Amino acid sequence: MMLRNSSRKLTSRLFSSSAFKMTAAPLDASKVKISRVSTPSKPRPNDELVFGSTFADHMLTVEWTKEKGWDVPEIKPYGNLSLDPSCAVFHYGFELFEGLKAYKTPDNQVTMFRPDMNMKRLNKSAARICLPTVESEELIKLMGKLIEQDKHLVPEGRGYSLYVRPTMIGTTAALGVSAPDKALLYVITSPVGPYYKTGFKAVRLEATDYATRAWPGGVGDKKLGANYAPCALPHQQAAARGYQQNLWLFGPEKNITEVGTMNVFFVFKDAATGKQELVTAPLDGTILEGVTRDSILALAHEKLDSNNWIISERYFTIKEVAERAAKGELVEAFGSGTAAVVSPIKEIGWKGTDIHVPLQPGKQTGPLTEQVAQWIADIQYGKEKHGNWSRIVA
Ligand SMILES: *Cc1c(COP(=O)(O)O)cnc(C)c1O
Repeated sequence: MMLRNSSRKLTSRLFSSSAFKMTAAPLDASKVKISRVSTPSKPRPNDELVFGSTFADHMLTVEWTKEKGWDVPEIKPYGNLSLDPSCAVFHYGFELFEGLKAYKTPDNQVTMFRPDMNMKRLNKSAARICLPTVESEELIKLMGKLIEQDKHLVPEGRGYSLYVRPTMIGTTAALGVSAPDKALLYVITSPVGPYYKTGFKAVRLEATDYATRAWPGGVGDKKLGANYAPCALPHQQAAARGYQQNLWLFGPEKNITEVGTMNVFFVFKDAATGKQELVTAPLDGTILEGVTRDSILALAHEKLDSNNWIISERYFTIKEVAERAAKGELVEAFGSGTAAVVSPIKEIGWKGTDIHVPLQPGKQTGPLTEQVAQWIADIQYGKEKHGNWSRIVA
């Protein structure tokens, strides 16, 4: 009798946990519940927009559990989250984020720039820290619906946009370190102005070899919050010495990897052949796979004359930069990322001296930097079409 009872219990447990288990629900944009603010806020004048400090009226939240999968997505008034203080995110860094922008085009449409790329990267980040992946297309649709609620807050004009910040956190409320069985995906948006309000401003970098941003086998190629906090101190130290950003070096060769939280490009000119080379570090797992980086490489391949240009994703060192600058072969350098698109570089502090990076006479950019900024802005603001790079959302 005892035996029969316990075996029946075991059987029923087996059935409930595997054979008859409901499959976890996929993320489904069509289920979204929308509750709007009662009084929509008025757009701020363009000249009052400070990057990432004010937010649009609505946010998107979706809860996930391992057991049930994705819950009903909700678009609701922007506001505080309520979380148990034992949540995994607060103790062990189960957090990832993305950053992309939505643009108002002259015909009053709002488009997102290459959101599919951000979704791919979000899923890679999620998989690496055991958070759930999303159905990319569903999250793109949900972001579109979110942006639609605040369409009147998407600023108009070149340089202006709505910055979109998807975030995912592990919310399992327990102190044991393990893969979260609960998560929260949320998206907030922020109307933003141009990174350089009064035109480009070239920056001074400190080549940093005493601190390492990312390493082989690490997670430098994922947009995990854990990668950013440790960079604040070297940044502060560089700033105290008069440099705006760190140029992150890696390894005994002192390879150039990234600048601050941007990818980095250099242009060299071979004095013998006259050919120019556009160089950026290869995606070897230590480099964040920037959407801007990818876009610049694609456009460079399309638009630069291959008789005069070589486009390289290869290792290059601070030593090469110093030597080629000394020979007059360093032409220009710039960072690339969603926030600023391109960020010109004018000096690099290394071993007690400053390597001088040329700019155009009377300007704060090199010629290719300026050109690249124009190519990308023309696509983002709807002047040029480029395949499926602009996705209409509202
Ligand atoms: C986000 C980020 C970039 C740039 O990526 P984009 O997709 O171009 O915005 C580059 N490097 C780091 C470390 C980043 O976090």
